[in-house]
Amino acid sequence: MPTYKRMLVAIDLTEEAPQVLEKAKAVCDAHGAKLMLVHVVEPVGYAYGGDIPMDLSELQDQLDKAAREQLGKYGEQYGVGREDQVVTVGRPESEIHRLVKEHQVDLVIVGSHGRKGFQLLLGSTANGVLHGTECDVLAIRIH
Ligand code: AMP
Repeated sequence: MPTYKRMLVAIDLTEEAPQVLEKAKAVCDAHGAKLMLVHVVEPVGYAYGGDIPMDLSELQDQLDKAAREQLGKYGEQYGVGREDQVVTVGRPESEIHRLVKEHQVDLVIVGSHGRKGFQLLLGSTANGVLHGTECDVLAIRIH
């Protein structure tokens, strides 16, 4: 059976993230693969449109910083070094597609659904990742 060498686990930093991380870590260890931990910060402009006449860059920086801190904690807990912790800004599915290509990832691991997709069989991010990723995708069932 071919083994995976480079895995990417995408987490949304909600209380469900550990469910995804636990399994990702187990699958990764079983394959002796390297794990990359990714969180995509969505641009604040998306949420507030262009209507508010204020500089959102400070808020964006704070979100970015908070995400890095949280990822750092998970990294320590699940044995993923700083060099494999990635925080980027953009649309989660597009950023994940890009990182898969850039880092020759052969398995992407996401939660089956989270904040955005909890009424769907497969959440919107999981679905978006599946369509357009050039490698295998594992969706961890969120309870
Ligand atoms: P959702 O699209 O909210 O249903 O989320 C489903 C899964 O997609 C989550 O469990 C994560 O694995 C992943 N995901 C959602 N949002 C993000 C994000 N901003 N950054 C990284 N992964 C995400």
